[in-house]
Amino acid sequence: MTPSCPSCQTPFVPGAQTCGACGAALLVAPTPGSAEPVCAVHPQWRSVGTCPRCGAFACASCLRPGPEGGVCAACLEREPLGLLPWDKREELGTLKAFWKTCVGMLMQPTQTLRGINPDAAVGSSLGFVFLSAVAGFLTTGIVYTALIGVIMGFMPEVAEATEGAPDPQSVTLWMTVGMGVWTVLMPFVSTGMTLVHAGLDHLILRMGGVEKGFSVTLRAHALSQAPYIVGLIPFVAVYAAPFWAMGLRVVTYRSLHRTSWGAAGAGALVVPVLSCCLCGGGYAGIMYFAFKGAYGGG
Ligand SMILES: [Zn+2]
Ligand SMILES: [Zn+2]
Ligand SMILES: [Zn+2]
Repeated sequence: MTPSCPSCQTPFVPGAQTCGACGAALLVAPTPGSAEPVCAVHPQWRSVGTCPRCGAFACASCLRPGPEGGVCAACLEREPLGLLPWDKREELGTLKAFWKTCVGMLMQPTQTLRGINPDAAVGSSLGFVFLSAVAGFLTTGIVYTALIGVIMGFMPEVAEATEGAPDPQSVTLWMTVGMGVWTVLMPFVSTGMTLVHAGLDHLILRMGGVEKGFSVTLRAHALSQAPYIVGLIPFVAVYAAPFWAMGLRVVTYRSLHRTSWGAAGAGALVVPVLSCCLCGGGYAGIMYFAFKGAYGGG
């Protein structure tokens, strides 16, 4: 929220004492008998805006610069300004900022999210998603690629016995190449999927009464993917991280949207649960045909 000068209505930066445009003092007594809103703490001063956190009318001396614009002193004291390591990329360097944010999100998510700007540029959030996906899938993908190469190398006899089956050498090659390509593409696919999922979640959150924009949902969704960092240990992330991330998303949605547990929970869980039924079927189908193909239709 940007407060505005009570005399000329020009927006001013919270913390200022006088208006930069007209030079008038920002602490102005209300006109006697008028219905002008007054500060919730200092009724002798006119309100220059409402606090985005608690909704209280605030005078110029109560508003402090905060991540959302101007925040009232009481709210700022309850939840002081915090900075996410990811938002300090220029200072820390991208990888260190990413690592510190992930560790914070895994060890003490509420502490890490406290007082941070709930909003961020779409590019900043997508960058975080991309790095999480690289961390989550790259090692596992490389190990899978190597395993498929090795395993397929041991089974030429199986395929050879089948009439009309494709040349086992080329099957090995294509499966290995396919896995390698998938490993490289995965972070891009994952980043695209995040946009779609965050969009769907945002619709649910909107229904739950959330008013902040899509970029806030996207940021919360991105930060919830911090658990993919454990994917640096092969295989672990693929199975554990999605559930961990889903749980964490309830926390990030609640914290960044400042909404209830119920609305945040619905926003985080409704879409995955629904799509899980669809994807689960698809995944089973792919595995069925993959094995059927690998064993030459046996
Ligand atoms: Zn003014
Ligand atoms: Zn407040
Ligand atoms: Zn005040």
